[in-house]
Amino acid sequence: MSSTRFTQTYSELPKHFYCLISTEPLQSAQLIHSNQKLMNELGIQIDDERLLQMTSGHQFPDNLRPLAQKYTGHQFGYYNPDLGDGRGVLLGQVADKQSQLWDLHLKGSGQTPYSRRGDGRAVLRSGVREYLIGEALHYLGVPTTRCLSLCSSPEPVQREQLEPRASYIRVAKTHIRFGHFEWLKQKGTLAEQKQLADYVINQVYPDLQDIGETERYSALLKRIVENTAIMIAGWQKVGFCHGVMNTDNMSVAGETFDFGPYAFLDDCKVHNICNHSDTEGRYAFSQQPNIGLWNCQVLCFAFSDMVGQAEIDDALELFINTFNEQYLQNMAEKFGLHNPDAEDRQLIADTLLLMDKSNLDFHYFFSQLTFFDSEQENRFLDLLPLTDSSLSAQWHHWLDRFRNRIAQQSPQRFAQLTANNPHLILRNYIAQEIIEAAEKQDFAPLTKWMTALQTPVLDESFQPCWETYIKPPKYHQKGMALSCSS
Ligand code: AMP
Ligand code: MG
Ligand code: MG
Repeated sequence: MSSTRFTQTYSELPKHFYCLISTEPLQSAQLIHSNQKLMNELGIQIDDERLLQMTSGHQFPDNLRPLAQKYTGHQFGYYNPDLGDGRGVLLGQVADKQSQLWDLHLKGSGQTPYSRRGDGRAVLRSGVREYLIGEALHYLGVPTTRCLSLCSSPEPVQREQLEPRASYIRVAKTHIRFGHFEWLKQKGTLAEQKQLADYVINQVYPDLQDIGETERYSALLKRIVENTAIMIAGWQKVGFCHGVMNTDNMSVAGETFDFGPYAFLDDCKVHNICNHSDTEGRYAFSQQPNIGLWNCQVLCFAFSDMVGQAEIDDALELFINTFNEQYLQNMAEKFGLHNPDAEDRQLIADTLLLMDKSNLDFHYFFSQLTFFDSEQENRFLDLLPLTDSSLSAQWHHWLDRFRNRIAQQSPQRFAQLTANNPHLILRNYIAQEIIEAAEKQDFAPLTKWMTALQTPVLDESFQPCWETYIKPPKYHQKGMALSCSS
């Protein structure tokens, strides 16, 4: 393809914002997957040979130029000044058919000046996980980065055990993190802070370009905060736990970003902790909205030379209001409730807690809720612990309450429930099956799931082979917590 579609805009910023990098290519690399769907959306075609050259770090199209970005961030609540791209490089941008620029980032491409003690590499396990989750969240309607291509090499990489090496190209609206602004607040001039803010506006929020300087940066701050709230309300709707909501893992585009030990809920455990290293539950499922706000406060501080206190107060209020509204709307769709109000907010919270107490599967409960108030209502009732002496009274009460609530609703409720409650979820045990096959050079499950995740809500084309994946997992398959090591 023509290299005029590629560019590297970040290298036009001051030199100390980044380091130019020579990648450490993967040896004997093979291309495992290329995301044709994403390529079509971007309006680009890169043949497999060139894609392998790029993804393995051997050769890049003209105009792309690998660089490592400097940033800092709060990790588990503590400021770390020593961060930056330690095992990834920003290759540059590609323009889609509407001339919108998208970042291309190569992950696992070797050491950089910000690697600290790390080897700069990625392993196949984490590559497969990131590759799949981008598609899963995207098709669940949650803003996210996605991957364009994935390759692996037999080179062994030391983690808790030896694992095959991998690398992949990530596509994002931007790779600017909250942590970029935190770094400039500490080490940059006001002019540099504004330069980065304008850079983000140009690429991600071009409609803010014409606003005068006194208002432009507060408008940017509000947009970031608002998109972050919408993203997190999306996570709560689909039962997604990010696991490492450090401020260096928060994108200013409000896209889910920098995947580590993420997990979808299995049982509806509202305080689920998916990150093995998160001993205090800072990033537990129920904490994600609060941590989102905490992270936005950090971002507000980083903006405080550019934006006044009143605008900062407005931005934080905007986060709270946006999250509350979006969450209620999202959950109402999930429950099939029209025109939700404050009572519904309580109903939703009570339901999740009762599901938690009853060890009910988060996704299966909602996918079967479609049968409530239908001729096949037993399919839903059979899930509930109605013969359990400690829970049956609470569930009977819940059934009355829910029946009353939906009494006035139209039959469209069923279509809404179906559209908002996916059947195919990338549970951790499924990701693990796909990884284990890939480690044995069997990439068929990866390919199969990449397609399946595009239609997580079942339609007429449903194949019986998916049946086992729709059911709640077995005891030993549930609730895997993973470590940060990737
Ligand atoms: P993460 O936990 O993936 O968000 O990474 C936090 C920081 O550590 C980032 O600056 C990464 O670039 C860096 N890092 C993580 N793993 C490695 C590695 N294997 N080699 C070099 N840097 C790494
Ligand atoms: Mg990170
Ligand atoms: Mg990471």
